[in-house]
Order: sequence, then structure tokens, then C-alpha cells
Amino acid sequence: MNRPLLRKYEKPKHINDYPVGPCFEAGYLVTENSGWRTKKPVVVKDLCIGCFYCYMCCPEGVILRKEKLIDIDYAFCKGCGICAKVCPKKAINMEREGGKDGI
Ligand code: SF4
Ligand code: SF4
Repeated sequence: MNRPLLRKYEKPKHINDYPVGPCFEAGYLVTENSGWRTKKPVVVKDLCIGCFYCYMCCPEGVILRKEKLIDIDYAFCKGCGICAKVCPKKAINMEREGGKDGI
């Protein structure tokens, strides 16, 4: 699954350097897109069996396969909670942003 990549914003120096049509090349973002998230998914590694169902269901494509388990790109996770809802092992908890773990 494709997911956005973070790229440093380089302000065009000349009007001719601005792209025509869409703002920037597809697949890249120049800033994190998660500042408004109120809850974030936290994986309980001992419960996770690596079925990757959450990976398939995440609408943002920000769950990464890491060895036999998963990792979450918090720079782009919107905190929708779908991953926690679909996990058959209840291995993902939605924790309040800025709570005991913070980001
Ligand atoms: S759905 Fe649950 S058990 Fe499966 S990989 Fe994701 S967190 Fe682990
Ligand atoms: S909370 Fe939503 S956006 Fe974030 S990892 Fe889970 S499914 Fe993806």
C-alpha cells in the first residue's frame, strides 16, 4: 500500500518553478498531517499475532509491516480507530493524545 512520504518544503524561487495543476508531486507531503488527532493507536506487542488485518484496513496506509509485527507512522495517522476496531486480538488501544505516553 502506498503511503505519503514526508519531504522538506523548498519554496520555489521563480514563478516558472511552480507546478501547473496539483500543488505538488503525488505521494509526498511537506508537513505532518496529524496535529488534530485526539487519540492515537498504541500496539500491545504481546497480544499482536502479526495477522496484518489492521495493515489492510487502515484508510491512510500508515501501518507498516515491521519484521513479523506492525509499526504505525504517527506523522500521518489520523486517529480514526479503525485498526483498533478490526483487530481480532484487541492488540491496539486508542489512547488519549498527550496522555501518559505522549508522542
Ligand atoms: S490486527 Fe491486531 S493482531 Fe493483527 S497485526 Fe494488527 S495489531 Fe496485530
Ligand atoms: S487510527 Fe486510523 S489512521 Fe491511524 S493507524 Fe489506525 S486505522 Fe490507520
